Amino acid sequence: MHADLVIIGGGSAGALLAARLSEDPAHRVLLVEAGGEPTDPDIWTPQMWPAIQHRSYDWDYLTVPQPGLAGRSLPWARGKALGGSSLLHAMGHFRGHPADFAVWHAATGDARWSWEGLLPAFMAIEDHTLGGDGIHGKGGPMPVWLPEEEVSPLARAYIEAGAGLGLPRLRGHNTGRMIGVTQNSLMIRNGRRVTVAEAWLTPEVRARGNLTILTGTMVERLVLERGRVTALETPAGRITADRVILSAGALEGPALLMRSGLGPEAVLKSAGVPCLQDIRELGQNLMDHLLGAGNLYAARQEVAPSKLQHSESMAYMRAGDFTAGGQPEIVVGCGVAPIVSEMFTAPAAGSAYSFLFGVCHPTSRGEVRITGPASRDPLVIDPRYVSTDQDRRLFRAALTAAREIGHRPELDAWRDRELLPGPLRTEAEMDEFIAKAAITHHHPSGTCRMGRDEAAPVDPDLRLRGLDNLYVVDSSVLPGLTAGPIHASVLAVAETFARTVAL
Ligand code: FAD
Repeated sequence: MHADLVIIGGGSAGALLAARLSEDPAHRVLLVEAGGEPTDPDIWTPQMWPAIQHRSYDWDYLTVPQPGLAGRSLPWARGKALGGSSLLHAMGHFRGHPADFAVWHAATGDARWSWEGLLPAFMAIEDHTLGGDGIHGKGGPMPVWLPEEEVSPLARAYIEAGAGLGLPRLRGHNTGRMIGVTQNSLMIRNGRRVTVAEAWLTPEVRARGNLTILTGTMVERLVLERGRVTALETPAGRITADRVILSAGALEGPALLMRSGLGPEAVLKSAGVPCLQDIRELGQNLMDHLLGAGNLYAARQEVAPSKLQHSESMAYMRAGDFTAGGQPEIVVGCGVAPIVSEMFTAPAAGSAYSFLFGVCHPTSRGEVRITGPASRDPLVIDPRYVSTDQDRRLFRAALTAAREIGHRPELDAWRDRELLPGPLRTEAEMDEFIAKAAITHHHPSGTCRMGRDEAAPVDPDLRLRGLDNLYVVDSSVLPGLTAGPIHASVLAVAETFARTVAL
């Protein structure tokens, strides 16, 4: 089989790219996805999102034990079907703060990756409830819904409590102003999740003569000759290709490159893979957000189940000074359910609620690496969570902020008493609680960061350095975390690539 342009991975970035690049009849696009077409009806029920992990369409990873998290290994969900992790995600749409993208701009020296540069892509992606106001998109493929009366009474009281503390009330997080409190914007239409595959790979798009979608096909290795990818190896045989876009996500993407002989020489050597090109940072710079789960309260009145996706409101703020503006440092989210890590026992649903808390720009960095040449050889995933003093300091500030909001008078009607963490006397006791309470916010990224420096695996055009015809477009290229969840920015990266890179 031969293809002009192959996209490996039909996840959030890959599904968007397949649709956008096949708009040009000059491109013959082949999208290759390891998983199948999603069919589980639970995917489309927003409240089910935490329950659908570990199913057949989840890669279902586990990190190595984390010294910063009391030696715990965290499960990491990743979607394995057309739509990728947009099948599993919590549906929150957060563009990020302009200062987040100033970091990307500085890293790349390329204005396309600044807030102003990415704004046209954000606008084009969205069909936002507030669209048409000059800052939110209207008529784009992805619905973004700002719920109103569907927001739970607990989350409304939480928003009042945040405002009582001095946080500005916002209408969503997506205008560039993030510090404040608001209900979350969600990728939901008519009560149903909308996956990236549905939004972009519509029946009309799938009917294009120049787009082929191959599901159930895992690319196991790239064949390289004279600085070019010439073919992809799959269990069903070789696919020769002129140009390749890797959109396999922040874990499987670098793993595929490593199995193909690209990556840090020492890692490849210990995995028994001959090194064709020593790319030292490939698989490094692994970053993720954590959330403390949770600052738990017994409720005075019954907490009705969320009509949305449980975590209904996020408050972003500076640490310590709740009235300051600028780039957020910490986040506190309102969980309309008793959400706790596996180290604690959750009270009965309806009897308690949790505030989740976290750091917007953690500085801890880890790595992903292969352990052998075959795709069945397990990955080592080591995010090195909470391994810096700054992360520990800001995590404590986030816990303090959660408790401060939690004890506000606006929540008196809801709070019976605080269950977790309870009295803590020292910083060490706070750290100990955080280490037991932290769970992933599900944003692994950065393992193939873009940058203008030679050490960056990917250049500002998202081309893998040293190879002529291989691009990486997905969460792995992020040079830094956005303050909030990263999905919207992954889509904006893919949309910007489709607009600006001449293939
Ligand atoms: P993915 O969407 O993971 O796509 C990668 C695709 O490549 C997959 O379909 C995979 O099967 C395929 N693939 C991998 N290897 C191969 C191979 N060798 N051959 C062929 N195909 C391959 N973000 C938010 O902004 N808001 C949220 O509320 C939110 N909640 C989340 C909750 C969960 C449980 C999870 C898992 C994620 C959440 N995220 C959220 C994060 C967000 O979903 C991801 O960052 C984003 O989807 C990543 O997109 P991607 O294109 O990089 O990778």
